[in-house]
Amino acid sequence: MDLLIKGGTIVTAKTSFQADVAVKDGKIAAIGADLPADGAEVVDATGKLVLPGALDGHTHMYMPFGGTISTDDYYDGTIAAACGGTTTIFNFETQAIGQPMEQLVEEKLETADKQGPVIDYSLHVGVGDVTTKEMLKGMDKVQEMGISSFKVFMVYDFGVDDGQFYSTLTHAAEIGALVGVHAENNDVNKFLVNKYLEEGHVEPWYHYMSKNEAVAGEADVRAINLAKMAGTSLYIVHLDNAQGVKAVADARAEGYPIFAETCPQYLYFTKDVYKDGKPEVGLRPQDFVCSPPMKGQESQDALWNGIRTGVVSTLATDHCPFLKSEKDWGITKKDGTPGNFTTIPNGCAGVENMYPYILSEANKGRITFNKAVEISAYNPAKLFGVDYCKGAIEIGKDADIVVYDPNKDFTIKNAENQHGSIDHTVWEGVELKGYPCAVYSHGNLVFDGKDFVGKKGAGKFVKQNHIHFDTPEF
Ligand SMILES: [Zn+2]
Repeated sequence: MDLLIKGGTIVTAKTSFQADVAVKDGKIAAIGADLPADGAEVVDATGKLVLPGALDGHTHMYMPFGGTISTDDYYDGTIAAACGGTTTIFNFETQAIGQPMEQLVEEKLETADKQGPVIDYSLHVGVGDVTTKEMLKGMDKVQEMGISSFKVFMVYDFGVDDGQFYSTLTHAAEIGALVGVHAENNDVNKFLVNKYLEEGHVEPWYHYMSKNEAVAGEADVRAINLAKMAGTSLYIVHLDNAQGVKAVADARAEGYPIFAETCPQYLYFTKDVYKDGKPEVGLRPQDFVCSPPMKGQESQDALWNGIRTGVVSTLATDHCPFLKSEKDWGITKKDGTPGNFTTIPNGCAGVENMYPYILSEANKGRITFNKAVEISAYNPAKLFGVDYCKGAIEIGKDADIVVYDPNKDFTIKNAENQHGSIDHTVWEGVELKGYPCAVYSHGNLVFDGKDFVGKKGAGKFVKQNHIHFDTPEF
């Protein structure tokens, strides 16, 4: 044996029990009481929880947006992930018009490899062009390369119309792939943006107003209807509103394989941040501009309820950080002309905060630790076809393990204890009860409770199996 984690409480999606975990050659080799050390390095986990590393199914490392590129790349971004107990990320890479998907994937795998991720990673392909049969067949080609998850956008200029969405869904069902959707009503969003700008409303609040609950909820309902029409499963990314939660709940109750992801920011912040920001920790309204924006309290309550009842299947971050100076483009654009809420790069940091935040909420009793593990590790591994190696403390799985100290108090301070390349975080000042004290990737220590101690380039591309769901089985 190489590593023996002794005396901790193992938390799975279903149960918790005290046992030792032994690791050999990067994999979990044995689980049981009083396992022999056998020359292994022994870690005393008495009083601690032993959890599977989280899988963040939604990151945007090194993503071009609004005239810049998100600040974290595959190296700094995965360091941040590792130091927050996330041991696999799924990064979005979006196809340009006319670009074959397989070419996109080849390029992005090469980029990732060069940047040197420190934990394992996979990709979702953002569908930008499926206007011809040949382009649609790109899905088959990237699937051969190990990617079975796709995402369509109902908004933005590169988004798909309902016909392209439908054809993507039906083709995904044929080949055994999962389609995720960013659901917002594009036409109403555009109309509202123009209306507010014409009226002279330029503040970040109008980012929320033009992407409000109804703009998201209508698209959630329509996306679900399209999946029903196509007879396929569907994964709604960053679900953020009560109408959407109800639509997912209803469809699942009818037996449709509809899955939803939400993000910590929708569980913690409300739209109020777009009025004043959080001046007590130096955050301005523009620092919270992400898409979709935070919503009202009613939606936040619905999301928490959705997690408890199993309507929301996964938690992911939508990590896409930009510098404060770039966030200021909402006041003065890069070219020196006056900016507005549409000229702020969309996105916030979060990859380091997801697991500590949800585990802290579990520690405070809002949900169980099992539920936190289920939505952060177990379910994303299943949904994205990597449960053959990830998402649980089980013999044969990769030794991606978090040792969690429920008694360690932690206050998020970007300058002191965060590890990405960003100059601020919306999570600044948030107090957590409990924190990871050791994180392992393939049995190698990557976070020692304070610092990143892993290796550049140690992370490898994880291939996804084919994905097929007939029912909302989890
Ligand atoms: Zn996103």
